[in-house]
Amino acid sequence: MRIDIITVLPEMIEGFFSCSIMARAQKKGLAEIKIHNLRDYTLDKHKRVDDYPYGGCAGMVMQIEPIDRCISSLKSERDYDEVIFTTPDGEQFDQKMANTLSLAGNLIILCGHFKGIDYRIREHLITKEISIGDYVLTGGELAAAVMADAIVRIIPGVISDEQSALSDSFQDNLLAPPVYTRPAVYKGWKVPDVLLSGHERNIRDWELQQSLERTRLLRPDLLNE
Ligand code: SAH
Repeated sequence: MRIDIITVLPEMIEGFFSCSIMARAQKKGLAEIKIHNLRDYTLDKHKRVDDYPYGGCAGMVMQIEPIDRCISSLKSERDYDEVIFTTPDGEQFDQKMANTLSLAGNLIILCGHFKGIDYRIREHLITKEISIGDYVLTGGELAAAVMADAIVRIIPGVISDEQSALSDSFQDNLLAPPVYTRPAVYKGWKVPDVLLSGHERNIRDWELQQSLERTRLLRPDLLNE
């Protein structure tokens, strides 16, 4: 899968994608993440990508032209499943959406900045608008990084033990069970006996019970979905 991220601040997320599982996914050839500096697509000699809003409200607005030029240039090279805009008034991102998007071949994610983007871009060039939560960030870069991480880590083969991604919270509408590691006793705090028993079936039963209990307690809404 390929994800093209369009931003005015590439340096904000380049480091993120060169670390850990995101770097491994790219090295293994399972994901290609390309970050494009929007300023490279402006014809303005000062590389401006924003202008004052019509109507005189506060803040600056990202202009259509460089964004259209960047998206058109990408689309001329390959087909895209979605052209996503990160925005607080978009559909809320969740595990189900990550699962669906991870099946895509190519995605574009456009990061907004300043007061937002000229609305005509949203009307004519964007196919999906996504929010990562009910709060306002200064730019869409963190939202793009959050989405790309959640999408890429579940591509088969990215995490070596595939089971480990599938048993994470929200898959099957359940929260994950607690996990423990050595030592078995620390300051008198004990790991549950069943996990030390070596009895595979009892362990899986215990994990499922814990998942159900924690979901009932912490996120009962998930059980009604
Ligand atoms: N004026 C806008 C907020 C602009 S914030 C409003 O009130 O809705 C600047 C940019 O940050 C946005 O264009 C968007 O791309 C990004 N952004 C901010 N909060 C976000 C969120 N919760 N989810 C996804 N993107 C967000």
